[in-house]
Amino acid sequence: MSSDVISTDVVIIGGGPAGLSMAIDLANRLKQKGEEKKIMVIEKGSEIGSHILSGAVVRPKAFKDLLSAEEFEGIPFDSKVEGEDVVMKLSADGALKLPFHPPYMSNEGNYIASLGQVCKYLATVAESKGVEIYTGFAVDEMLYADGKVVGVKTKDTGVDHQGIKQKNYQEGTAVKAAITILAEGTRGSLAKKVIDRYGLQGKNPQIYSLGIKEIWSVPEGNIAAGAVYHTFGYPLNDKEEFGGGFIYGLSENRVAMGLVVGLDYPDPSFDIHAAMQIWKTHPEVSKFLEGGTILEFGAKTLPEGGWHSIPKYYSDNLMILGDSAGFLSTPRLKGIHLAVRSGICAAEAAEAALLKGDTSEKALSKYETLVNDSFIYKELYPTRNMRAVMQDGMVLGGLKMGMQLLTGGACLMAPEVEADCDTTQTVTEFCGIPFTQRFAGKLAFDKKRTFDKVTSVYQSKAMHDEVQPVHLVVNDPDRFQAVNIEQYGLSEAAFCPAEVYELHVNKEGRKSLRLHAENCVHCKTCDIKSPNGGITWTVPYGGDGPEYTYM
Ligand SMILES: Cc1cc2nc3c(=O)[nH]c(=O)nc-3n(C[C@H](O)[C@H](O)[C@H](O)COP(=O)(O)OP(=O)(O)OC[C@H]3O[C@@H](n4cnc5c(N)ncnc54)[C@H](O)[C@@H]3O)c2cc1C
Ligand code: SF4
Repeated sequence: MSSDVISTDVVIIGGGPAGLSMAIDLANRLKQKGEEKKIMVIEKGSEIGSHILSGAVVRPKAFKDLLSAEEFEGIPFDSKVEGEDVVMKLSADGALKLPFHPPYMSNEGNYIASLGQVCKYLATVAESKGVEIYTGFAVDEMLYADGKVVGVKTKDTGVDHQGIKQKNYQEGTAVKAAITILAEGTRGSLAKKVIDRYGLQGKNPQIYSLGIKEIWSVPEGNIAAGAVYHTFGYPLNDKEEFGGGFIYGLSENRVAMGLVVGLDYPDPSFDIHAAMQIWKTHPEVSKFLEGGTILEFGAKTLPEGGWHSIPKYYSDNLMILGDSAGFLSTPRLKGIHLAVRSGICAAEAAEAALLKGDTSEKALSKYETLVNDSFIYKELYPTRNMRAVMQDGMVLGGLKMGMQLLTGGACLMAPEVEADCDTTQTVTEFCGIPFTQRFAGKLAFDKKRTFDKVTSVYQSKAMHDEVQPVHLVVNDPDRFQAVNIEQYGLSEAAFCPAEVYELHVNKEGRKSLRLHAENCVHCKTCDIKSPNGGITWTVPYGGDGPEYTYM
């Protein structure tokens, strides 16, 4: 792309399942009508899939709605889920297998997949229909005219740490579009700006979990392809930490495994990366890894607030899709099929708007009507209070969740939902046993089965051009020093899974922040969890970040 202004009918930011499904479905619809329109997808990863991370157990229905039978057959699912999935409650030295599934967790008829591989395939389908896909371009600016969105601009490159233009400076490209689609996934940085600017927030703040994931190659016989295991309990404290583990058997004797933890925990020293390493040493988990080697590491957040946290997801010339809109079912730990369906709903609304030449908010409200008529509403509305009650702990919250099955989701005792950045307590406020004491003796990692963060970053293949403005912005440095460092003990160092934040203490005992932005794996946790909203994650140069191959 040149630095000139270019024009398109539709620009889609994000080459994940939501953005690519929108592109495919819109291209199909326009072809059927004999209309020629330009559809463009812009993705910050160096390739489609390189920034994609999911479990992933996939519900296939939305893909059947999106693709022809022949196209569906070509999806590179890894294996079909085989047999009953096993759910275990772990204690420090034991495990109890549940005799039933918690509600919504059946995976019958589903497939295990690398979502990155599925997206690569969707991109080839989209391109075969004339969609233009540009990878390695980060979009960091919305364009407005008369207060309305009119497109986006890619990031300027060739700028040093201080913002000074270098010899290789290149201004970003302005992309003017009749309709702009934000499909940036979890905590979209453009979506965040637009939601704030237009006051589109939902009833509750959005809340998130962080998932730490690894792929392993293991000896034959450790796990069958298609096997699905979920755990809850150890090493999490049921009262204050919501979440659990997943272990999925892949083909060629590989395992996908991860620990997903709600970011609404109070302990300022809680470290989800370390918790994942400890989880892997539990006998019911480590048995799958016996004799194996790690292939890949990654981390990403997921939006879990559910129906009441969904913002208004359209405005003049604008629609927000998938995780960026918060379409994710927490009880199922699934968002892929909802992302695809949101893409299909948005494509139908865009088709009507483009053909009428009216892309106003009123015209695009068709998107909301279609979402409410689809399984997105049917899945998310009855579970609307389920994540909120888990702020009461896994046991009491679990009981309240069970009661909602009888009431169609109504709940008189849903606690008020707090944003994740407000739930961390200061070091002195926190009365529990800090994470490092709770797991003293378990935090030395052997680099065979358990890994420190720097080694994990290496396994994610994350790289960043060092000559660029730091993409992690400390919003108010004085306040960050006085509050985030002095009162919270730099909780960013604990929660960041990639050792980007380091607490430096000089000879005089003065504490300060050292940033290793080049380690960032784009999980977005700091943008979400930093106390007082201390950090803003901005998009670094296109092509920077992790290079996932099978996440
Ligand atoms: C640990 C974990 C486990 C999960 N397990 C499952 C599961 O088993 N089943 C399931 O159905 N769902 C699961 N999910 C949820 C699922 O992955 C998401 O709901 C789904 O990926 C959302 O799709 P999306 O297209 O909205 O966003 P994404 O898949 O995140 O794609 C967004 C894309 O936009 C790009 N992008 C973002 N910002 C910009 C920008 N400014 N400029 C250019 N490009 C940009 C990103 O690089 C990315 O490629 C899981 C998620 C996690 C984190
Ligand atoms: S710096 Fe922020 S976005 Fe990057 S890995 Fe750390 S917590 Fe995640």
